[in-house]
Amino acid sequence: MSTTSWEMVVGLEVHVQLKTRTKAFCACSTNFGDPPNQNTCPVCLALPGALPVLNARAVELAVRAAMALGCTVHPRSVFARKNYFYPDLPKGYQISQAEFPVATGGRVELPEGGAIGITRLHMEEDAGKSIHDRFVGMTAIDLNRSGMPLIEIVGEPEIRSSAQAGAYLRALREILLFAGVSDCSMEEGSLRVDANVSARPMGEPKFRNRTEIKNLNSFSNVERALELEFARHVATYEAGGTIQQQTMLFDALKGEVRAARSKEGSHDYRYFPEPDLPPLLLATEWLEAQRAAVPELPAARRARFLSAFALGEKEAQALTTEVETAVYFEAVAAASGDGKAAANWVLGEVSGALNAGGGRIDEFPISAKRLAALIALVKEGGVSSTAAKTLFHAMRTDHGEPRAIAEREGLLQVGDDSALIGWIDEVLAELPDEAARFAAGEKKLQGVLVGAVMKKSKGRADPKKVNQLLAARAT
Ligand code: ADP
Ligand code: MG
Ligand code: ZN
Repeated sequence: MSTTSWEMVVGLEVHVQLKTRTKAFCACSTNFGDPPNQNTCPVCLALPGALPVLNARAVELAVRAAMALGCTVHPRSVFARKNYFYPDLPKGYQISQAEFPVATGGRVELPEGGAIGITRLHMEEDAGKSIHDRFVGMTAIDLNRSGMPLIEIVGEPEIRSSAQAGAYLRALREILLFAGVSDCSMEEGSLRVDANVSARPMGEPKFRNRTEIKNLNSFSNVERALELEFARHVATYEAGGTIQQQTMLFDALKGEVRAARSKEGSHDYRYFPEPDLPPLLLATEWLEAQRAAVPELPAARRARFLSAFALGEKEAQALTTEVETAVYFEAVAAASGDGKAAANWVLGEVSGALNAGGGRIDEFPISAKRLAALIALVKEGGVSSTAAKTLFHAMRTDHGEPRAIAEREGLLQVGDDSALIGWIDEVLAELPDEAARFAAGEKKLQGVLVGAVMKKSKGRADPKKVNQLLAARAT
């Protein structure tokens, strides 16, 4: 048994598809899921003589992403050709930024504390897609994705555990979602991760050789693959072996990481400046305008929720993982004037309903305004908190005003003395033993009796009044 303890070193490369209507260098649609090869033209099919024209919106979104990540945006960047052969790469090169990327530096703060540095952020285009499981014995090529606008975010090798890699990715995704630059959907391929990992003895100053795991299609798979690959490095070193720089593939079904091809050094790509595109020059005023247009980011929104609505850290965190949730919550809080109640409803009933039935919060059948009206109805004593939950579910299919629905469904709280006394008398008659002991001074039975009245009234009795009426009967 070795006594060396090993440290995991991870650096992530994240490819993010920008949320544009058209591709990076042509006017083809970026719509996901269209029939194969429908969204193609001479430019993205690489027909001879076709020339790229840079999509201004893609530049805006790339710059906005860079600003949201605290990067330094460079007023001059250069597109280059990254040459390699692949069947789904008709040009034989990808237009990317190499020596002069649009942004460098930057960092992602982790919720647990600390931050991971960003080395660079550059613009590039996507390749097409090879489909191996459509026809037996053949590979199909879909070029709809060819020329989609991407940014690649290269992270510093500062991540030290698989859990930290997951935390980094979640924090990064949140920022990009709030900045509105991408859908960040791993299922649709608009966020893709390559994970670089190496192992070194704890305290050894130099990094050892890394391997790069491609094709990771979920954050949990990133974490699983890192653990497996790290274990392989450690086992190799402990057996006296060495690790070669190499590209690996993760097989989620088999739960294994295996070698793909040996990794090319970057010189193999024969980068050279793209002759069909001039350098990208960004004017100072334009950059200032972009900075002003960066939407409020998750950390700022969280801090604001904490102070404006007196929420706990956990609640503020949960309400800011998705922009739509944050927007919905804020609308409920503003309309009801009660942030705490708004948070309870959004994280409780609303999230529960969405988790169970699917759907998006921005299309939830109970609008923020109607939920606020429900909160107001509870506060003024119109419905009990139990009845409010029943009313909430009724409101999912009935689009009327909460009070009208409550009235029709018999959910309005009853505070009328004669009705309450009627229920109390029934309960006391049904529970003669408890009634006698309560009358003789056993005060702790009051709770039991109130509970029975609430049940008898199907949650409609005003518990405060029931308590008062019952207390008056004890001697
Ligand atoms: P390449 O073009 O070869 O992919 P990049 O510089 O684009 O190289 O990306 C290298 C990635 O690998 C970065 O995310 C970096 O943090 C990470 N990395 C570099 N060295 C190591 C190492 N020894 N162990 C783990 N990750 C590393
Ligand atoms: Mg790279
Ligand atoms: Zn095209």
